[in-house]
Amino acid sequence: MKLSLYLKFIAGYLVFGVLGFAAVWTVSSGMMYQYLLRERADAMYDEANLIASAYSNIYQGEKQDLESAYQQLQAVAVFVDLEIWVVNRQGVIVVDSNHSARTGETIEGFDPMVTGNKSYVIGDYFGQFPYDVLSVSAPIIGNYNTYGYVTVHMPVSTIRADSDQGLNVIYISAAIIFVLSLIILLVFTKTVYFPLKKITEGANQYAAGNLDYRIDLEAGDEMGYLAATLNYMSAELNKMEEYQRNFIANVSHDFRSPLTSIKGYLEAIIDGTIPPEMYEKYLKRVISETERLTKLTQGLLTLNSLDGKGYLNRSNFDINRVIKDTAASFEGICMGRDINFDLTFTDNIQMVYADMGKIQQVLYNLIDNAIKFSYDGSTIFIQAYQRNEKIFVSVKDTGIGIPKNSVKKIWDRFYKTDQSRGRDKRGTGLGLAIVKEIIQDHGENIDVVSTEGAGSEFIFSLPRATVL
Ligand code: ADP
Repeated sequence: MKLSLYLKFIAGYLVFGVLGFAAVWTVSSGMMYQYLLRERADAMYDEANLIASAYSNIYQGEKQDLESAYQQLQAVAVFVDLEIWVVNRQGVIVVDSNHSARTGETIEGFDPMVTGNKSYVIGDYFGQFPYDVLSVSAPIIGNYNTYGYVTVHMPVSTIRADSDQGLNVIYISAAIIFVLSLIILLVFTKTVYFPLKKITEGANQYAAGNLDYRIDLEAGDEMGYLAATLNYMSAELNKMEEYQRNFIANVSHDFRSPLTSIKGYLEAIIDGTIPPEMYEKYLKRVISETERLTKLTQGLLTLNSLDGKGYLNRSNFDINRVIKDTAASFEGICMGRDINFDLTFTDNIQMVYADMGKIQQVLYNLIDNAIKFSYDGSTIFIQAYQRNEKIFVSVKDTGIGIPKNSVKKIWDRFYKTDQSRGRDKRGTGLGLAIVKEIIQDHGENIDVVSTEGAGSEFIFSLPRATVL
């Protein structure tokens, strides 16, 4: 079974809680107990020494009231919850702070060195206590003599109780931290889990083909950025899909009309609607339609090759020469319609660095359009001039111009203005799409300035050749 990120996070949180408490329970409880033990033993040892020095004075015969000393001892013992004994060297109890009746009792097996190299000992102290006690002892010394010992005892259970109380504080603090760390879980839920769910849902919708789906996520963090990127991606894919649908519709439409007329003419010839003396006229129309189909196919193939970010075969060449040659190739058509070219170059030779074949095609398409949409007897102006590191080429006509609302669309594949649909049956609407693609592949720009009824000017840039 696959565990969701959320479950993993909760499991991690619980493991963190359990391990946290286990650590506090084992490590902290041991450390706390040991700490208290040492601290109490030190305090008791100081106490024992204090009392031992007082008894040393008494043993050395200084004026001291034994009775009042005992009472003082008792007060100290009660105050700090201790049992204090004064024992002579033979192990006979001289004073017992808590049981005065024990005075004179002998401690069997008494050994003042029982603490060894430690300052305290834990146990029943030579069988004197029915429970475990922490014991320390200090010698009563005077005149290079050891008169006896002060031993101080505290029940281990008292230390345990104190340790438990200290631990309770730690447990409560740990519990508060554990509960507070729930905030992390809540923040994770809100900032990661829910957004991730929305994004996953979006991705599933896109995979299922629903590219209109919008991921509704307004966040200023990486999740929001991811959602916005996915929304953008789906919108782009959607546009692409729509573009492709339109493209296929346009291609089909543009292929169908010439095919329909070819079919119509041929059927009319076969069933005799067109008499044999008219054959030539109609067969010429059939040829013209097939030429249009060829042109369409050619245009589509060119665009297709450019789509793959067509590899450019760049070289340094003189753009003036290419302009002259291309214009010359239209001589035949221009003579028939009395159209003239006016070529202006700022320099005799202007070298550019570009794909010559493709730039030839650009010029061909632009001049072809300029002629198509010019009036008979007019002039077409072509210029090439240098600005900074660029060479600008302009193809200008004084023809029918382009309506304002069509200017943006002329670059679209298959787009033709209404006037040109009537006037120019040969056009495929692919010429300018190809031009734009080629110029963009060169990393350059092309623009148009046109006024309906006055003419159009197409200007594009090319990089100047750096090495002449
Ligand atoms: P076409 O093969 O139809 O000329 P283009 O892509 O070259 O296709 O041009 C698209 C449309 O832009 C043309 O059909 C025409 O309406 C308009 N157009 C292009 N060049 C000119 C121009 N020089 N003058 C007026 N209209 C133009």
